[in-house]
Amino acid sequence: MEKFRLMALPYADDALEPVISKETIGFHHGKHLLAYVNNLNGLLEGSPLEALPLQEIVLKSEGGMLNNAGQILNHELYFQQFAAPQENRRPVGRIAEAIARDFGSFETFKEEFQKKGATLFGSGWVWLSADKEGRLIITQETNAANPIQRGLKPLLTFDVWEHAYYLDYQNRRPDHLAALWQIVNWEVIENRYNQ
Ligand code: MN
Repeated sequence: MEKFRLMALPYADDALEPVISKETIGFHHGKHLLAYVNNLNGLLEGSPLEALPLQEIVLKSEGGMLNNAGQILNHELYFQQFAAPQENRRPVGRIAEAIARDFGSFETFKEEFQKKGATLFGSGWVWLSADKEGRLIITQETNAANPIQRGLKPLLTFDVWEHAYYLDYQNRRPDHLAALWQIVNWEVIENRYNQ
């Protein structure tokens, strides 16, 4: 029996255009994420970690199992946080207050987050997370790493693996990162912060 399944997208595959094309969604969700799911299911067969939830597998595994489990967790958080493009999307509620408190302003936060994404060498993810006191922190995580491995609560992430943007932006990673603010669903981020 298959333990993990490919997540359903909470929007149509062309809903994020032109920020992320239908073609990119097709490869990124339909092929890359599907491969991580299939790989993990294969690796879990007969493993002592087989019965654990995904986050526990990320915290307790290593090697190929960690890479595939981490990428599933990362991509589920990534795809769930988006909605159709709108100009001037902004955080609201407690997360907006925390961003202003810890970064000075939303504009300063965006600049810092984009810079951390643009300067991450190779493949990985830039994250906004909360520590146990609710303070916000931006981290760069390489390959399949996730902030839960540092004891942080992940809130928002931009994928900087080339498969996330190459069809639409080629080598222009900074342009891709700058465009993503138009599709961030801040209600999702606010809910994660309040959980
Ligand atoms: Mn990806």
